[in-house]
Amino acid sequence: MTDDELSKLPAYRWMPSRIPLRDALTTFVADAPEPEPIIAEMSSRCRETVWFQVEGGHRVLFLYDGGVFDQSRFILEPKVWDYDECAICGERIPSMTLCHVTQPKQPYFLLCEQCYDRHVRAHAKINSDLISAGGCNSIGVKLDVRAGLVCSFAPWRF
Ligand SMILES: [Zn+2]
Repeated sequence: MTDDELSKLPAYRWMPSRIPLRDALTTFVADAPEPEPIIAEMSSRCRETVWFQVEGGHRVLFLYDGGVFDQSRFILEPKVWDYDECAICGERIPSMTLCHVTQPKQPYFLLCEQCYDRHVRAHAKINSDLISAGGCNSIGVKLDVRAGLVCSFAPWRF
């Protein structure tokens, strides 16, 4: 995640979450110099994949997105996906562990408790302190508590 992306995190609306076990498409991929086109395609379509080394190749899990798939090549296994990863530190968060996700209709981010504290909650507290000190909290408001209660409202209404 870039510094720019990190700096935008406190502006999103967040909610606590516990990600349940999720469904995955699974398949066996034999060792080969190049991935089969169908595997490459599924890898780019699904947000996440996990490759487990097994005899002669890999057992591969694709986090299932609910779309159609080739049933001769993939098996839909309910509730085999048992973790998620923090978008900042990459730590694996076991299913049903408290974490924080952005609310719907925003870019999706999932953070572990520690990263949420450090990158969202810490900044949100500063923002709410400023707002309560200045008493201005609308779009188009500039707030400068160093200069006292300076509120310059935008000349237009949203
Ligand atoms: Zn984290």
